[in-house]
Amino acid sequence: MKHQVVLIPGDGIGPEVTDAACMVLEAAGADIAWNRHHAGLAAIEAGSDEVLPSETLDAIREHHIALKGPCTTPIGEGFTSVNVALRKRMNLFGAVRPVRSVDGVPTRFSDAPVDIVVVRENTEGLYAGIENVISDGVVTSLKVATRTASVRIARFAFEYAVARNRGKVTVLHKANIMKVSDGLFIQCARELHEAEYGDRIEYEEVIIDAGCMKLVQSPELFDIILCENLYGDVVSDLCAGLVGGLGMTPGANFGDGDDAVFEAVHGSAPDIAGKDIANPLAILMSAVMMLRHMAERTSDTGCTEVADRIRDAYNACLLAGEKTRDLGGTLGTRAFAEAIVARL
Ligand code: ATP
Repeated sequence: MKHQVVLIPGDGIGPEVTDAACMVLEAAGADIAWNRHHAGLAAIEAGSDEVLPSETLDAIREHHIALKGPCTTPIGEGFTSVNVALRKRMNLFGAVRPVRSVDGVPTRFSDAPVDIVVVRENTEGLYAGIENVISDGVVTSLKVATRTASVRIARFAFEYAVARNRGKVTVLHKANIMKVSDGLFIQCARELHEAEYGDRIEYEEVIIDAGCMKLVQSPELFDIILCENLYGDVVSDLCAGLVGGLGMTPGANFGDGDDAVFEAVHGSAPDIAGKDIANPLAILMSAVMMLRHMAERTSDTGCTEVADRIRDAYNACLLAGEKTRDLGGTLGTRAFAEAIVARL
């Protein structure tokens, strides 16, 4: 069956890596009709006066699924972050970032492979963007935490753990300092755990600074990590570094309904844009997550088969040393995608 998917190429390395991913999906036989829409700088360049045009939002609402490249928000021109705005306006409150060691990409943890899922609250915290200039040289930034959103993301993390047979959820927090806001966040997670998940899932609370140290020393201690918005952003990149970097860390954003946006953890990486050196694996892995999500939603087993074929092909490439420069290889963006296609 043909699946309608919104494709947002994005900015910086976005168009290169999404092109590469689409090439692989097409070669693997994914039955997808792409609906291309702009967001970010690309939207402004295409003539829109908004970084997040309403037609892009309408398209996601209509088709429910988007594969999104990284988007740049012009700084100092009064625009709010396009990524934050998209997640908030679509109410995609839960980000899922799986971080796994892959054979062929050596890391410091080769003896104990890393297999962590970061679950990030997407709509609140300091990313609420409520900043005020109190007087010249004095600003405040308001951290927002609500019981509704805290319970919602905690339930999302526990349900994810149950659905994927994962045993433990660790909340990283700073409630020793931010007693009220982070205090509410962990209180909601703890109470929900006690009430509904205590018999099935192990639960722990770790202060985030010590948690970061433990993550780089012994990542095998972690299973699912639950964080509020800003901590989740930072910890996602830290975890990416455990398995080879931002070039191979995928992600997805979910809400209560059917809508889901799949995107890599990395940003638009302007330093390497347009040079054909960016690693398309993170967005391709995000596309594989998308195919599995489509299979779950529609019972189309063809999506699962295509997802498995693509995963096997990129794993074979990495094992054979066919990889991009960020992973120690020599291939460019396009050449790496072609190598994957050759192994499908
Ligand atoms: P943002 O704030 O938008 O998340 P960022 O400041 O974290 O962005 P990124 O754009 O994610 O920065 O990139 C950080 C660095 O990681 C880049 O400068 C680039 O060198 C490297 N990088 C990111 N993505 C990739 C990729 N797909 N392939 C290779 N290198 C990458």
